[in-house]
Amino acid sequence: MIDEKRADENMTTSRLREAMSGALQKLHDRAVVLAAALVMTMVFVAAGGLSARGAAWGAGALFLWSAVWPNARTSAGNIELRRTLADAAVSSRRPVWMSIIGNLPDAAIALDSNGMVLAVNRALLELFPGALSGQHISQVTRAPELLTSVETALETRQPQSCRLDFKVPVERSLVGTVAPLETTQTSEQAPSLLIVLTDLTEQDRLVRMRADFVANASHELRTPLASLKGFVETLQGAAKDDDVARDKFLKIMQQQADRMARLIDDLLSLSRIEMQAHVMPRDSVDLGNVIAHVVQTLGPIADERSVAIDVVSSAVPPVVMGDRDELIQVFQNLIENAIKYGRQGGRVAVREDVIKSVSGIDRICVSVADDGPGIAPKHLPRLTERFYRVNAAQSRNAGGTGLGLAIVKHVLNRHQADLQVDSTVGQGSTFRVSFPIRRQT
Ligand code: ADP
Repeated sequence: MIDEKRADENMTTSRLREAMSGALQKLHDRAVVLAAALVMTMVFVAAGGLSARGAAWGAGALFLWSAVWPNARTSAGNIELRRTLADAAVSSRRPVWMSIIGNLPDAAIALDSNGMVLAVNRALLELFPGALSGQHISQVTRAPELLTSVETALETRQPQSCRLDFKVPVERSLVGTVAPLETTQTSEQAPSLLIVLTDLTEQDRLVRMRADFVANASHELRTPLASLKGFVETLQGAAKDDDVARDKFLKIMQQQADRMARLIDDLLSLSRIEMQAHVMPRDSVDLGNVIAHVVQTLGPIADERSVAIDVVSSAVPPVVMGDRDELIQVFQNLIENAIKYGRQGGRVAVREDVIKSVSGIDRICVSVADDGPGIAPKHLPRLTERFYRVNAAQSRNAGGTGLGLAIVKHVLNRHQADLQVDSTVGQGSTFRVSFPIRRQT
């Protein structure tokens, strides 16, 4: 209770301070007008056209108007002011129900028995910036589902709920709960209905993403599985005694099984990285070392496509705080993509650069550039989505799962690192990652 009282006193003092500084600001904004008016008045008095008493009254009135009348600058802050008033209404008059509404995390609005707004909270003003006490609910929103629920709840005194989908200004899905309030107060000012609007937009997006992910993963697994089943049936039947066909089919079956294994490995990696997303890796890892290891491992694939890999190391040892295995995965994906999707017989350039920062921590930037066909700009923002491919057939033929860059993005997030992709069709692509450098002690 004492804390609440003190909080109220603090709020009143800070409001008084805000009002004073608002008035001073307006006087400052209108200084030129005020000075001009005072000079004119003095000229009139000197010329005998105005008595000193009249001039004093006029100047006083002008001064008061300048300090109080809202100007363009203050009206720009109207929404913020309304928010403050919503808070103030909740704390200064403070019937308990108002405090409750004010402290609800979801958007809430209290109506009287005629559907007129008695109080709104901050979250509601985020959704409906024009909402004001004294308005009818239909002036706050025209959503028919909500208005019908309010009408029914007022008539039947039974709780109602409805779903609201807004397309503009931003797409939002809300669920509205309209609850009749029992009160001993009989005045019209007594709250009769409480509407709570819960925002489901983010939750819906996550559910959709999960459903899409399961559908995509099943599809990716089903294709090689169907192919394996087909070959098993053929080998059991028509090609039972055909040695040449058997060798050929077994080779394809091996490839399909490898593809399934790669997909399962990538799915497991992704889920493991996601589970550790909020745990900052703590080991010191030398990126130069990681890159040298990856380039060596990818040697046979690069030779197969006659691709030369050039590495330009940084002068400073590029030591970052990280998880070595995950960083190997990042550079393995980026360099392997540059080999797979770059030009046959082309060149892949891997470069480490230290970016000095005057104020903060220096960063190490590693770029992987190829001279392949490049990626059209419309694909760039979606490259790190799971299962997103520019050319699905080319990716599958190259043994891709469509998860490589999604894994890269998740690992980099965990390492507080950034990924940037630049590409010009016909010239090649450059994938740049930048990490904060670990200070050497
Ligand atoms: P994938 O397993 O298919 O390689 P990634 O997530 O690693 O999946 O990459 C997604 C898609 O981005 C690839 O299918 C390919 O179309 C495109 N891509 C990635 N790197 C390059 C590159 N260096 N040049 C051209 N396209 C690329």
